Amino acid sequence: MQSTAGSESANNGMPENGVTPWLGSQIQKVLDSIYAKYKDVDDGVVATYIPELGKADPKKFGICLATVEGEVFTAGDWDTEFTIQSMCKPFAFQLALERHGSEKTLKHVGVEPSGEAFNSIEFDQKTGRPFNPMVNAGAIAVSSLIKQKPVEAGVDAFLETMGKAAGRKLRIDESVLASETLTGNRNRAIAYMLLNSGIIDEEVHESLHQYFAQCSMLVNCRDLAMMAATMANIGNQPETGERVFDFQLIKYVMAVMFSCGLYDYAGNWAFEVGVPAKSGVSGGIFACVNRQLGVGVYSPKLDAQGNSVRGILACKELASHLGMHAFDFSNVGSSFMQWLL
Ligand code: GLN
Repeated sequence: MQSTAGSESANNGMPENGVTPWLGSQIQKVLDSIYAKYKDVDDGVVATYIPELGKADPKKFGICLATVEGEVFTAGDWDTEFTIQSMCKPFAFQLALERHGSEKTLKHVGVEPSGEAFNSIEFDQKTGRPFNPMVNAGAIAVSSLIKQKPVEAGVDAFLETMGKAAGRKLRIDESVLASETLTGNRNRAIAYMLLNSGIIDEEVHESLHQYFAQCSMLVNCRDLAMMAATMANIGNQPETGERVFDFQLIKYVMAVMFSCGLYDYAGNWAFEVGVPAKSGVSGGIFACVNRQLGVGVYSPKLDAQGNSVRGILACKELASHLGMHAFDFSNVGSSFMQWLL
């Protein structure tokens, strides 16, 4: 198992307004201790309902933290690749808002927490809309809004934008895409219900392909942390400085992640960790600390809600060590660093 850990830039190439080497080493120590504390936790099960996901190595455990200044701290298997799965949903929602504006987008998907599982087949009774863009139904509605003609153009556009946020070119895992396309009957059922209530158009196959392809994009913990840090950094990629997302819309995505990002665990997450975040059935979780940093964790064994067991433990501990909680009084602006000092 690859288990090297380290800070990429605590001692060199550090921007003037970055963390001090001393603080960098403290953050690194926090990551290392969390990795060591939870690496042998063996609870949970790897998802197998998408057969290809069942091939994941259950021992893998990686953590990455990226600051908005572009400094990166890593522990464990941070460079193992896995498919992004539901963690694509906030980004797809952002792109739908950018393309169509909030008024039109919200005609197709709501922003209410459903308190239901990610794959629930429940819709707003009055409007027929999916409850929010973080459950599959809402994400399929969003995919229908951002798909293009031909369908591969929409997938490529998504990959390109996500690559800009991650800071490297990203690609699809074709075997996971094939596996989910073959077995995704529940999502197909959801899509046809959305067609039936006029939420998506007749191009059901194309909307589903856009959704399945987005979920099959390969990332590692560093990519997730950078994508999260790009969101946290008002849409600007911390390393390249490139403007990737429209900052005026990020607040909407953050709000929905905060209330709905972990499905029927969202309330507990908001209570204990207290930052916008999103999980996926591959075992990844990413979290954004507004104007400060992004976090990406990965470990494939999941709890009953479909969230990574070690990932949740790691995020809880990280949040308490760094004072990440949005309503923690030690978290004033970007004070987590001062708090450590
Ligand atoms: N692609 C998966 C699905 O649609 C995503 C679910 C998830 O990560 N929670 O079932």
